Order: sequence, then C-alpha cells, then structure tokens
Amino acid sequence: GHTLGMMGGGQLGRMFCHAAQSLGYKVVVLEPTEESPAGRVAEYEVVSAYDDMKGLDTLLSYTQAVTTEFENVPAASLKYLSSQIRISPSAAVVAVVQDRIAEKTFIASQGIPVAPYAEIRTIEDLEKADNTLFPAILKAARLGYDGKGQARVKSVAEAVEAFKSFGEVPCVLEAMLPLKKEVSVVMARGFDGKIALFPIGVNTHINGILSSSVVGVEEIDPTIEKAAQEAAIKIALGLNYFGVMCVEFFILEDNRLVANEIAPRPHNSGHYTMNACLSSQFEQQVRVLAGMPLGSTDLLAPTIMLNILGDSWFAHGGEQAIEPDWASVLALPGVNLHLYGKAEARKGRKMGHINIVNKDPQQLIYYARQVSDILHLNAKI
Ligand code: ATP
Ligand code: MG
Ligand code: MG
Repeated sequence: GHTLGMMGGGQLGRMFCHAAQSLGYKVVVLEPTEESPAGRVAEYEVVSAYDDMKGLDTLLSYTQAVTTEFENVPAASLKYLSSQIRISPSAAVVAVVQDRIAEKTFIASQGIPVAPYAEIRTIEDLEKADNTLFPAILKAARLGYDGKGQARVKSVAEAVEAFKSFGEVPCVLEAMLPLKKEVSVVMARGFDGKIALFPIGVNTHINGILSSSVVGVEEIDPTIEKAAQEAAIKIALGLNYFGVMCVEFFILEDNRLVANEIAPRPHNSGHYTMNACLSSQFEQQVRVLAGMPLGSTDLLAPTIMLNILGDSWFAHGGEQAIEPDWASVLALPGVNLHLYGKAEARKGRKMGHINIVNKDPQQLIYYARQVSDILHLNAKI
C-alpha cells in the first residue's frame, strides 16, 4: 500500500509525485503519451488511454488508491476503479463538474448564486434565450480550460456563429458580469470528513489564462471571504466530496459573490501553497489519498504566484525558443521557481510558475514586478 496512483501526466500530476515522494510514497502514473511531465518523475509509468481496461488493470496491480489531475477522465473508468480501490474524486463528482450544465445546476441547487445562464443545445435555444443575458459568454459545456471553448458574444447572431464554430456541442450562454475581483477557495477534505481551508487568493487572468494569484496582500472583505469559504464547504458536502477541491468565485462590482466553477483537484490558483503554507495543496492530495491526517494550511507570509507561459521563451520576437534568464529571477529575494519539465516551449503553454514570498507586502509587490519584467509576463500586480 505504499504506491499511489495518478491519472494524468501533466504538471499537476508531476507536483503530486514530488509531494508523494517526499512523504515516502511511490507513484504510478497512467497517461496516454510517453515522456510526460509526471511520467518522467514517477516510479512507475503506465502508458495507456484512460478508458483502456488493460491499462486500468495494470494501474490496479500497483496501488490501492488513485487520484486524477484533471476532470475529463472518463467517469466510467473512475467507476470501474472505485469498485476495487479508494478513489478521489469519485465518478459521481467528476460527472457533475466535467459538464458546465450539470455543474451550474448543482451549485444553484445548493442556494449559491451563479451567473445568469441558459442551457444551449440547439440554435433555437439561442434564438429564444433571454435578451438580458447579452453581452454574454458562450462556453462549451465540456472540455474547456484556460478560456478555450469560449466566445464573447454581443448578440444572438454572434452567439449562433460561435455555437456553429464549436460544432453545435452543448453549451451554456452566460451573462457577462462586471467583475471586481476573482478569488479562489482551495480546500481539502479527508475521508474522515475533516476539512482544511487554504487562505483565499485573488486571481488575475490574461487571455483567459491564469496569470497571477495574490495571497495575504489585499484586504478582502471578511464577510465576502467567509461567504466564499462557506459556499465552498457547502459544495464539498453537497457533492460528498473527498480530496482537494478549488472553487472559483467572482466578486462583482456591487460586492455580490458568484460561484464560477469547481475543480475537483489541486488548481493552478493554489500553486502559491507550495511555498506559502507548511502543507501544499499537493501534499494535502497525497494525505487524503493515503488516508493520513490533513496538514497545516496557515499562511506563513504574503505570497504572489506568477504563471510562466511559453511566451517567455519568445519574448525577443523571434521564432526560436530561447530559455528565459532564470539567474536574474533567482537573484531576487524570496523567489521560488517551479518548472514542469515540458519537452518544448510553446506560446500559451504553461511551462512553470514562480512563487515570490515576502513578509512585507510592499517589497513582495516590488520583487514580483521585477520577476514579471524579466520574464515579460505583463502581470497585473
Ligand atoms: P480554467 O482554466 O480556470 O478552467 P475555463 O476555461 O474553465 O478556465 P472560466 O473559468 O469559465 O473558463 O472563464 C475564464 C475566465 O473568463 C474567468 O476566470 C473570468 O476572468 C472570465 N469570465 C468567465 N465567465 C465570466 C462571466 N460570466 N462574466 C465575466 N467574466 C467571465
Ligand atoms: Mg475551468
Ligand atoms: Mg476558470
């Protein structure tokens, strides 16, 4: 029982491997492609499609507990695994959160506000959608991430065009809301039912991709913070969820709180925990899966997480990827660099992140801006 299973070979799987290994566990990674970021650091690698029975049986032969790094694992595979071993997240949870229609329906059923939306399955659904939803965002119900599978639309005509370009897959049409802030609640719930909440982080995005998470710097209205944490706990309990979970929220101009989406796993906006807390979100994922007590989530010092995309390799304007100047970044105080070991840098691809930690919020912002300048991140901090 000292090997834990991870479905998915990306950076989240890789950081799970590191946390697991540090706690004395081995990891078996199941992932369809060879040489993946997680596969290369795991003790065992099973190269297999997520719905291939042979691959799943091989995974089972290594371990009694399996988790995932993304929500698009086939629910049927999780169901099959769960008949024999401990699994987080459950097939039932994944079925809800991998479909925006089911996800929004569930969140609203818990009495938690979501953006006004309409379910879109046909062009007629768009034509009869409430006009007050516009300007809107059309989001494919499944498989979107980093703003992919989304279109901002000002009219029914634009929405129809976008719907067609998505291949007329089921979508939600969401009212575009006036956002003041975006925040995340990352939490862990053990199989014993105990809950640990990480401090709330404030997120910024560039082109639909998370750019920065800031923790312990700006004052967040304590009532809003409490409401967000209570909503996240309500969601976890309502889903009968065990594992690490992130809920993204919007804080609107008028201070209303709206839940955006649920990630049934560690989330990019929780990467700051790797250096800002004694136990990171990945360590919590290990602890939950291993049936161990949850670790401390107190904030040790204000922290800014900056995502590093492949764009930093092309900031010189040329076609050839050039490694960023890590030495200049690492020369700054409080900088922690985490690279994901991806084979090739590409624009828009997440290559790593940096956590800048500093007890003094002013200095923290000062050094984070320097990191942003050196790596050409254009972070809004
Ligand atoms: P992720 O990579 O976090 O999974 P995603 O592709 O699932 O992202 P969303 O989180 O739904 O997409 O949206 C991406 C970003 O677009 C949000 O963080 C927010 O900045 C903006 N956005 C989404 N929905 C709305 C909305 N209804 N009103 C205003 N802005 C929105
Ligand atoms: Mg998402
Ligand atoms: Mg999101």
